Amino acid sequence: MSLDFTLATYRELCNAILQSGYTPMTVLAYLESAKPPDRFAIIRHDVDRAVGNARRMAQLESDWGISATYYFRFRGGTFRPDTMTDMARMGHEIGYHYETLDKAKGDCDHAMEIFEREISAFREFVQVKTISMHGNPLTRWDNRDLWRKYDFTSLGILGEAYLSFDDVVYLSDTGRTWGHGYKVKDWLPNGGSREAGRSVASGLQTTYDLIRLVETGQNHRLYLNTHPERWADGTLGWMVSLMKDKAVNTVKRALSLKSSLKSR
Ligand SMILES: [Zn+2]
Repeated sequence: MSLDFTLATYRELCNAILQSGYTPMTVLAYLESAKPPDRFAIIRHDVDRAVGNARRMAQLESDWGISATYYFRFRGGTFRPDTMTDMARMGHEIGYHYETLDKAKGDCDHAMEIFEREISAFREFVQVKTISMHGNPLTRWDNRDLWRKYDFTSLGILGEAYLSFDDVVYLSDTGRTWGHGYKVKDWLPNGGSREAGRSVASGLQTTYDLIRLVETGQNHRLYLNTHPERWADGTLGWMVSLMKDKAVNTVKRALSLKSSLKSR
């Protein structure tokens, strides 16, 4: 057994997915399939930072014959066309991890202008047909709310990684746990899927818990989201990501305490 949140552990998860008869799918492949396989796992990654980790994860998956979806933020150090085109060549889907309502401080029209500009920058290098919102627990906006006013299909986008899903079990590594703690904005808004994800997640904590769940094959429609920056393959990188996660979780606990005191 390896340390959790290392590439070695991620390799064990990929092995379990394939050995247990799950068909790995990208977000786009799922949205485009008229009839998805009986047992599938949508593999998604939100690349917030640490593009090198994402590249290593993409190579590992490619070695296993797995195609996944990688959503990149548009910010210095993360918007890396060279890495994105390399990953697309490996067979992965590249998407846009948008945060334009945050950038526009809640102004929907300005957020849409930024969105159009940023997605055009991606499309100079790679095809982008799906998008996922970046959820910053410290801002008061939910970037998905842009689509209350605008329609992403008018921009040639087939789906949004939260809004376009129904009837799947969504699990993510946010907060350094596969359980449902610390997921401030990271949930599927659709009621049924949200509840299904929460109930499965309540029995999980580590990636080894998830591997055991995958091995039972009980949930046929899995949707797994990982943040590659969390999955380091060296001791120093692993320690840095551990400390960062602990600090962020402390802030999230403080915020949730503050809002529960306010609502009294
Ligand atoms: Zn993000």
